[in-house]
Amino acid sequence: MTVVETETPAATRVWRPKQVLVTRSAAERPHGREIVARAEAAGVPRIELLPGDRLPSLRGATERETYANAKSTLAVVVAPPSKLRLQPIPPSADWRFDLAEGCPAHCQYCYLAGSLGGPPVTRAYANLDEVLAGLDAEVGRGSVTTGSAARDHEGTTFEASCYTDPLGIERLTGSLSAAVRHFGTHDWAGPTQLRFTTKYDDVAPLLDLPHGGRTRVRLSVNAAPVSRRFEGGTASVPNRLAALRRLALAGYPVGLTIAPIMPVDDWRTHYGELLAAAADAVRDVPGLDLTTELITHRFTPRSKEVLLGWYPHTQLEMDEDARRQKRGKFGAAKHVYPAPVMAELRGWFERELAAVLPQARVLYWT
Ligand code: SF4
Repeated sequence: MTVVETETPAATRVWRPKQVLVTRSAAERPHGREIVARAEAAGVPRIELLPGDRLPSLRGATERETYANAKSTLAVVVAPPSKLRLQPIPPSADWRFDLAEGCPAHCQYCYLAGSLGGPPVTRAYANLDEVLAGLDAEVGRGSVTTGSAARDHEGTTFEASCYTDPLGIERLTGSLSAAVRHFGTHDWAGPTQLRFTTKYDDVAPLLDLPHGGRTRVRLSVNAAPVSRRFEGGTASVPNRLAALRRLALAGYPVGLTIAPIMPVDDWRTHYGELLAAAADAVRDVPGLDLTTELITHRFTPRSKEVLLGWYPHTQLEMDEDARRQKRGKFGAAKHVYPAPVMAELRGWFERELAAVLPQARVLYWT
C-alpha cells in the first residue's frame, strides 16, 4: 500500500533566473519551446530568442559581475554530438548523461569549478529526445555497477547530476520529470536505473510520476556548519531531508550523498546530528530502499583557482600543505585529506551509520 503524506514542508527553494536566452536551434525544438513556455509562466523578466546559436558574452566589468550575470541566466541550447557521448562515471554509475550543464546554486566548493569552460551559466539542453534516445545503446554495458558483486542488481546505471543539479532547474525545464518518466515506462533491453543527486527540495513535480522504481534520488546533505557557510542558494538541509521522506513515501529508491565531508571543528557532533536527523526523516517509511554515498572534500589546482575567483573571501580550507596529493586516472593532481584523517573519518562514519541508520547500504567511500 502506498502511504500518501499530505503535509508540505516549509517553502521550497525555486530558482527564477533574471534572463533566459534561447538559441535559434533550441527554439526550433519542441522541448526548447516548452522551456520558453515554462519561463513565461514563471514570470522570468527577460526571455530572448537569439538570432543564431551563439550565446552573447556574459562578461561584466569584474570577475564577480561575470559570475553574477552567468549565475542568473538560463541558456537553452542544443547539446552538440560530443555532449551526447556517454562517459563512465566511477564510483557512482556506469554512465553519465547530461540534461543540462551548470547550476544556479553558489556552493563555495562547487564540483563544477574547473570543469566548465567560461562563465558558469546554466545551459539546459533542448534536444532532450536525442539525449534520452542515446541511452539504449549502453544498456547491459558498463563497468561500475554492472558486473560488480555488490551493485549489479541496480542494472545499468545512468547518472544525471554530474554537471548540473537537475532538480534545481526542474520548474523551468521539465527535463528531469521527462527523464524519470522515460526510465519508468520505456521498454528497456535490460534492467536500468536513473540516478541523480540534489541540494534542492522542490520534489512536488516528481511525486506522481510513473517512476517504476527505476530512479534513485539522492539528497546531498552535510553537517550544519558546512551547509550554512558554504552552500548558498540551496534548500536547507532540514528541507532536503523532508524532501527525501516525501520521495521515499512516493515509492522512490532514495539515498543520501554525504558530501563533501570536512573535518570541521567538532565534526563528530555535527555529522552525528545530521545522521540522527536523516534517521528521523526515514522513520516508518514502508519498503524503504536507502543508500549512502560518502565523499570527502578535495580540490585541484584548477578548481582552487576558479573558486577563489568566484568566492575571493571564502573561508573554505584549500591548503595544499594540509593535504595529500593523489593522482587521478589522467595524471591530474587532487588534494585530498592525509591518510590518518581519512581513516578516522571513514571509521567514524562506518560505525555511526551502522548504529544510527542500519537500513542504509553504503555504496562507496571516497
Ligand atoms: Fe556546484 Fe552542486 Fe552546489 Fe550546484 S549544487 S553549485 S553543482 S556543488
